[in-house]
Amino acid sequence: MMIIEGAKHMLPIERQNRIRQLVQEKHSIKIVDLSKDIGVSEMTIHRDLKPLIEEGSVIKTFGGVTLAHDHSDKQGTLDECVFCSRAIHERLAYRLILPNNKIEIACCSHCGLLRHRQLGDKVMQAITYDFFRQTTLSAPLAWYVMDTSIQVGCCQPQVLTFESKDHADKFVKGFGGNVYSFKEAMDNLFRKMNGHEEHSCNH
Ligand SMILES: [Zn+2]
Ligand SMILES: [Zn+2]
Repeated sequence: MMIIEGAKHMLPIERQNRIRQLVQEKHSIKIVDLSKDIGVSEMTIHRDLKPLIEEGSVIKTFGGVTLAHDHSDKQGTLDECVFCSRAIHERLAYRLILPNNKIEIACCSHCGLLRHRQLGDKVMQAITYDFFRQTTLSAPLAWYVMDTSIQVGCCQPQVLTFESKDHADKFVKGFGGNVYSFKEAMDNLFRKMNGHEEHSCNH
């Protein structure tokens, strides 16, 4: 057991090291638990986390953080899409957070949504990136653009992800396509996939 004396007087850098250590140990942890462990406010934890998120050692999830590049997954390499085995390009990746700190990564929202649909309620959280700003966002809250003229070179039919509906609408205005909510995008993609067999994702 670890006793932290005078945690309130830890320097930011010490708190960050402690956070790093806790995330390494637990793989994912809630802000409220970090706040309790370290003995500072949640606001301070948020401030401490900022550089860790920016350097990419942890990933922000809803109400907490999770370890980036979690190699605890015994099912295989995390450098490959869990759905189609393509190489992962971080800026398009779609992460599925499952029970027992298991994380699956899909190459893009196309594979992410299809895998998410397969796993259903087992998915505790899904994280993807905003196409414009490259900030992480919760997949169920995202807006999805399909059938647009811009091609990013991952799986077809292509699915792009936006945090703001306004950005998605403007994107579609400029480059064509349709905007869908999470549920609509998932259903629409599944329908398309079953409509025609052609799927560039399958090797
Ligand atoms: Zn894939
Ligand atoms: Zn893909």
